[in-house]
Amino acid sequence: MTTRSADVVVVGGGVNGASIAMHLARMGAGRVLILEKGHLASGASGRSVAMVRQHYLHPVLVRMAVEAGAVFRNFADAVGGDPRFQQTGRLLLFAEHDADAARANVAMNRDEGANIRLVSLAEAAEIAPALDLDGVAVAAYEPDAGHADPLAATYAFADRARDYGAEIVTGCPVRAIATSGGRVIGVETDAGLVETDAVVAVTGPWVNQLAAPLGETLPVSPIRVQMVVLRRPPSLESFSPIVMDHISGTYLRVNAGSTTLAGAMFEQDLSEVVDPDDYGLNADHDTIVSFWDRASRRVPGFASTTPLGGYGSLYDLTPDGNPILDASASVKGLYYATGFSGHGFKLSPVVGRMMAELVLTGDSAGHPIHPFRASRFAEDDPLGAEHPYKGPLHQ
Ligand SMILES: Cc1cc2nc3c(=O)[nH]c(=O)nc-3n(C[C@H](O)[C@H](O)[C@H](O)COP(=O)(O)OP(=O)(O)OC[C@H]3O[C@@H](n4cnc5c(N)ncnc54)[C@H](O)[C@@H]3O)c2cc1C
Repeated sequence: MTTRSADVVVVGGGVNGASIAMHLARMGAGRVLILEKGHLASGASGRSVAMVRQHYLHPVLVRMAVEAGAVFRNFADAVGGDPRFQQTGRLLLFAEHDADAARANVAMNRDEGANIRLVSLAEAAEIAPALDLDGVAVAAYEPDAGHADPLAATYAFADRARDYGAEIVTGCPVRAIATSGGRVIGVETDAGLVETDAVVAVTGPWVNQLAAPLGETLPVSPIRVQMVVLRRPPSLESFSPIVMDHISGTYLRVNAGSTTLAGAMFEQDLSEVVDPDDYGLNADHDTIVSFWDRASRRVPGFASTTPLGGYGSLYDLTPDGNPILDASASVKGLYYATGFSGHGFKLSPVVGRMMAELVLTGDSAGHPIHPFRASRFAEDDPLGAEHPYKGPLHQ
């Protein structure tokens, strides 16, 4: 490391750390330094499904997602580089017990500028003829949705950050945040102290390794999440839209090399609290069989395919399933962007700007950052949905 001091240190080189650093450098924060203990995107970002959607259950998140989606569709101009975004469309399927909530949420999303509409089951079958729509009462469609390559997106933000003068050091764990008199004075690394007045901890499920020693444990749980890779048979070769099946709690998104990723969103699928430094990197046998079965019931063509295994990764889950974007309550100069709860990829272009504004001006200009404050949990004022769905844990 050549740097022994910086104006702002961003800890964590995932997609949000890279975006925050880029926005800080672009907005003139001075010498911006990313310190990453592994390599870029070595946390959740590198294993993300990276779906980019606009459907959220809270108006603030809808507006953030609408803006972020436009960035992904226009990344070369808005950021620079290529996150390999593919617009596939996204179909949402709901049972009768979620029908009213789905109608209300789609109406709210449209009011907030999202391109989403209710579709008849006949239209849903036209969009994805391979589906078995048994049990579906209501369907909605987001034509602008798709997915990016999370590694490419992280590196694109990091490259632009460097273009604006930021320095990125990988293989450099931050061991502690150094403080004096209630203020940040630097970060401790194996190469010594890096002096700084401002630290942004964008360390996902590892956040409390740095926050807890400061007496500030955040309500962020490291949850192991599993993905299963299914080989698409020839009959499903053109099956491309994302499918969010709120009935079986399963989602499907097309992947490279004639494969489809199958994931799950019910509470029982997302309940394994783990040590973020020691968790199962492969999917479990039972999970592979279960996700394959759930996918095959909604898309019968998958019954005659081969599951290719799967992988484990981490969510940084908060009690309301939404991120913490805030200044520390007790240490001046320390900021947190964590707790993305399995949906922080798509928000990264907007979170980057909001956090940069928070650090540089004390508030965010484009979207309110107050709803994301850490104290909302103690204040019993979570960032919840007016019309929640019955099954999925993160919405
Ligand atoms: C399987 C899966 C599917 C997902 N699908 C989607 C999706 O479809 N759409 C969506 O929007 N989101 C999705 N997400 C969520 C999204 O990927 C994450 O919210 C996002 O990538 C988090 O980025 P981050 O930069 O905040 O954290 P991370 O990518 O976890 O990065 C944190 C970084 O901090 C580093 N670090 C930690 N501690 C230290 C330290 N002390 N010193 C230095 N470095 C440190 C880590 O090594 C890591 O690289 C998914 C997540 C998973 C796991």
